[in-house]
Amino acid sequence: MSDTGVHSNEIHQHGSETIGNARLAEAYRSSTIRLLSHRQTAIAEVPGFDRLRDTGREIKRHTIENLDFYLNQFADSVERNGAKMHWAATAADVCSIVVDIVKHSTAREVVKAKSMVGEEVELNHALEAAGIRPIETDLGEFIIQLAGERPAHIVAPAIHKTREDVSELFVKHIKSERTVVPEELTAIARRALREMFQKAGVGVSGANFAVAETGTVVTIENEGNIRMCTTVPRIHIALIGIEKIIPRLADLGVFLRLLGRSGTGQKLTTYTSLLTGPRRQGEDGPEEMHVVMVDNGRVKTLADPKMREMLYCIRCGACLNTCPVYRKIGGHAYGWVYSGPIGALVTPEFTSIGEARELPFASSLCGACREVCPVRINIPDLLLHLRADAQEHAPKKSESLLSERFMFRMWAWAMRHPILYRVGSRFARMGQGLLARKGWIRNIPAYPISQWTKERDFPALAPRAFHKRWKKL
Ligand code: SF4
Repeated sequence: MSDTGVHSNEIHQHGSETIGNARLAEAYRSSTIRLLSHRQTAIAEVPGFDRLRDTGREIKRHTIENLDFYLNQFADSVERNGAKMHWAATAADVCSIVVDIVKHSTAREVVKAKSMVGEEVELNHALEAAGIRPIETDLGEFIIQLAGERPAHIVAPAIHKTREDVSELFVKHIKSERTVVPEELTAIARRALREMFQKAGVGVSGANFAVAETGTVVTIENEGNIRMCTTVPRIHIALIGIEKIIPRLADLGVFLRLLGRSGTGQKLTTYTSLLTGPRRQGEDGPEEMHVVMVDNGRVKTLADPKMREMLYCIRCGACLNTCPVYRKIGGHAYGWVYSGPIGALVTPEFTSIGEARELPFASSLCGACREVCPVRINIPDLLLHLRADAQEHAPKKSESLLSERFMFRMWAWAMRHPILYRVGSRFARMGQGLLARKGWIRNIPAYPISQWTKERDFPALAPRAFHKRWKKL
């Protein structure tokens, strides 16, 4: 692992570990299939869902193109509501702002709702280093905090854990009774967490959307823990990536319908909270509210007209569930907090292409991610753009890259010389007789194709060449 905590260039090694672990592979397979099938059912109920996606995309495009205006409008609205605005350019800035607020409050425990920005900036480490105890309250995040891991999925952080795994963690860390009944496991977590909400002086949350015209922070969830984090403690801090802005409250309906259905296949998630400033006379809620707007690489992406579209993402997770690569190698193989097709874009953009050079290649470019994306981000196109970038920034051409390049050059050359191609394929057909079984070759000893057959089978050439069949037809 590098100093920055990004180890995305080890994707091959970590991906192989998931593929070789039958339990993990099955956990990813079954969970992603379930989420995708729920999505399918949920979107089929909405006539004109594709028109809704177009509307969502257009709102995002307009907002991102005019982000400076909407950020200012949001900041003015937040302050008018009595909350305090903070601007954080880097991960270190986010951490120091939050640590300062907590220290100033004298709280020593912080309850946290699920926040990908919080993961991204490693807020828990910063809090712990300052002697403050961060407590994750989202069930999935609570589980991975106990396991000392990072999220394996942007919507379902503990997607890779079975109930047996969760039971083990609870027995070990919170001395609970042993059970694998999901309701009982949830009740154990609830009992452990309820007391924390009452004790903690500060609650930290993320945000799904931030409404510019009203200064409203919108959170959506199924467990109710975000409501507790944002209302029970005396101080609420919301961490928000600058791309989460939407212009008007009227736009929210579009995204609420897109997000729940695309992510978990729900018409709406169980709780939608609209937080507009700290509590007023006669209200419940926090006495103080702080909003931290986070750049941490986003402005660089905004400045690149080719990559800007990436900022339309509403973090629904649908592209992960449908991606044949994510489903095989799992979330941790991507080496940072974001995984799947969107992670393959976000990680090189928010960290550096050098640290995540391999990620844009972790895609078959099949287009399944673009098909399901609720705001129609052209992920394959952006991945291709990053691939070109990765090649330019490669410190030195690796052996496998050079041999791949040599093979493709040879292939292109042979394709331009039909006689040669035919003679070559005839020899290959004769040669494969020794290796092929039932249309597949298990092992080709010659490098570099041996690298392919180390992990998977190679399709044998058809017994009769296409051009011969074509002539006959
Ligand atoms: S890229 Fe699209 S599908 Fe993937 S998480 Fe973002 S919004 Fe969802």
